[in-house]
Amino acid sequence: MLRQRLVASLVAHSCALRSQLQSSSQRPNVSQNLPVTSVQKRNASRLEPSYHCDFAIIGGGAIGSSIAYHIKTHKANKDFDVIVFDRDLNYSRSSTVLSVGSIRQQFSIPENIQLSKDSFQFLENAKSNLTVFSEDPVDISFKKSGYLFLATKSGMDRLHQNNATQIASGAKLKLYSSDSLKEVYPWMNVDDIAGGSLGIENEGWFDPWSFLSALRKKNESMGVQYVQANIVSFPDIIDRGEQLNVVRAAIGDPAFPSASPLSVIYAGEYVNACGAWAGQLGRLIGIGGKSEDGSCYDFLTDGWRMDPRMQFPIPIMPRKRYVYVFHCPNGPGIKCPMVVDPSGVYFRSEGPAGYYICGKCPSPEQEPDTHNLEVDYDFFDEEIWPILAARVPAFESLKVTHAWAGFYDYNFMDRNGIIGYHPVFDNYLIAAGFSGHGIQMSPAVGRAAAELLLKDKFETLDMTRFGFDRFLSNQLIYEQNVV
Ligand SMILES: Cc1cc2nc3c(=O)[nH]c(=O)nc-3n(C[C@H](O)[C@H](O)[C@H](O)COP(=O)(O)OP(=O)(O)OC[C@H]3O[C@@H](n4cnc5c(N)ncnc54)[C@H](O)[C@@H]3O)c2cc1C
Repeated sequence: MLRQRLVASLVAHSCALRSQLQSSSQRPNVSQNLPVTSVQKRNASRLEPSYHCDFAIIGGGAIGSSIAYHIKTHKANKDFDVIVFDRDLNYSRSSTVLSVGSIRQQFSIPENIQLSKDSFQFLENAKSNLTVFSEDPVDISFKKSGYLFLATKSGMDRLHQNNATQIASGAKLKLYSSDSLKEVYPWMNVDDIAGGSLGIENEGWFDPWSFLSALRKKNESMGVQYVQANIVSFPDIIDRGEQLNVVRAAIGDPAFPSASPLSVIYAGEYVNACGAWAGQLGRLIGIGGKSEDGSCYDFLTDGWRMDPRMQFPIPIMPRKRYVYVFHCPNGPGIKCPMVVDPSGVYFRSEGPAGYYICGKCPSPEQEPDTHNLEVDYDFFDEEIWPILAARVPAFESLKVTHAWAGFYDYNFMDRNGIIGYHPVFDNYLIAAGFSGHGIQMSPAVGRAAAELLLKDKFETLDMTRFGFDRFLSNQLIYEQNVV
C-alpha cells in the first residue's frame, strides 16, 4: 500500500517538477519524473521490498561512498535521497580495503595529477571533513612521505617527460642523479640507475579501512542509506533506452545471491561505481553485448540494442595483485620512501620499524586467474625478491610475514578511470576503472561525479576527457605510471 501511494505520488509530482526544472540549471530529481511502465507496475506488485531514491549508487567502496558524500555536501543540495547498494557491506573482496592506500603526484596525465592533488587536501583534512559531530575524531593514519621513481639510462627520457607534465601541473619534485641518490640513500644499490624523482609534497599513504569506515559513517550521519544488495538485472528501460527505470536486486547474503529475496530499486539516477566489476554491471543492460551467462537485459526489439554505442563494453575487469609484507631489521629506516624500481617492483616501510610491504604487476603472460584471492608465494620468490635483494643488499635476509591479494579495477583500454554518463542512457553514470590508483583519487573523483549528477557539468576540475565517449571516438588517454 505504502509503495502504491509512493508510486502514485511520484507520478502526480512529475508534471509540476518538469516545468519547474526546465528553468533550473540543476539536474532533475528524475525519480519523481519517471512515468510508471507496465513492467514497473508488475514488479511493484510482486516484489518486496522496494527502494525509492533520487540517486542509487551501486558499489559502496571509496568511489561510490565519495560520490554519496559529495552529493550530500554539495553547496546547492543537501536533501536528496541517496542510497548506496553494495553486495557485501563487509567489503571482503572490495579493492578499497585490499589496497595499500598510497597517494602520489607522479602521474603522466594532468587530470590524474590534479585528482590526486585535490584528494590529498581532502585526506590531509580527513579529521575535519569526516568526523561526525560528538564522535571521536577521525584518524586515517595519514603519513606524508614521497614516492621515489628510479630510472635506468633508457628510462630517463620518459622520467623527464613525466616530470615536465607533473611540474606544469604544480607537483613539487626533487630530481636526483645517480651520485646524489647514492649519497641520500646509502642503503640502496644504484649501479644501474641513472636518476630518480622524489615527490616532496602531496605524497604519502593512509589506512584504507579507516578511511572507508569514516566516509561511510559520515555519509550515514548525513542521511545516506547503505543497503546490502547484489544488483542482478535491470529489468526495465523506458523511452527506447534513454532512461533506466528499474533495477532488480538480490538483497541478502552475498555468498548465496540466488537464495536471496528479490527487490526493486526505483531511482532517478543510477551510478555504476562497481570498481573492478563495473564492466560486469554494464553487461546487465547490454553494454558490450550479452554477458557470458546470458544474464543481460533481454528486450528483443528495442532500438537501443541495435545502437552501435552499445557494442563497446565498459572496458574494466578485475586483475589480481599481490601485496607481501616482510620483516628486515637491518633494512632502511622508517624514512624509507615508496621506492618504485625500473622493473616495476615497489616497496615501502609499513607499520613498526623493520616492516615493509612490496609488490609488482605481473606481465600479461603471468596474469593470475581472478576466481579467488589466493596468494602466489612463488611470485614473490621468483619475481620480486631477487630484485629487492639486488636493489637493497640488506633485503637479502628478509622474511615474508604475510601477504594478501586484491583486484585492480583495470581499464584495459588506457589504464585510466571513467567519469561520465553512458552515451545511450542519460541517467546512468559510470565512475570506475582507476586501474590501481582509485583510492587516492576517490575524494576528487566523488566530487567530479557529484557535480555531473547535480549540475550536469564539471565545476571544479574539467574531467571531460575521462568520459566514456573517448572509447567510441578512439581518443584514449594512456596513463604511463601505473605501479
Ligand atoms: C593490492 C592493491 C593495491 C592497491 N593500492 C592502491 C594504492 O596504493 N593507491 C590507490 O590509489 N589505489 C590502490 N589500489 C586501487 C584501489 O584500491 C581502487 O582503485 C579503488 O579502491 C577502487 O574503488 P572502488 O570504490 O571503485 O572499488 P571497490 O572498493 O572495489 O568498490 C566496488 C564495490 O562494488 C560492489 N559491487 C560490485 N558489483 C556489484 C553488484 N552487481 N551489486 C552490488 N554491488 C556490487 C563491490 O562489492 C565493491 O564493494 C590498489 C588495489 C589493490 C587491489
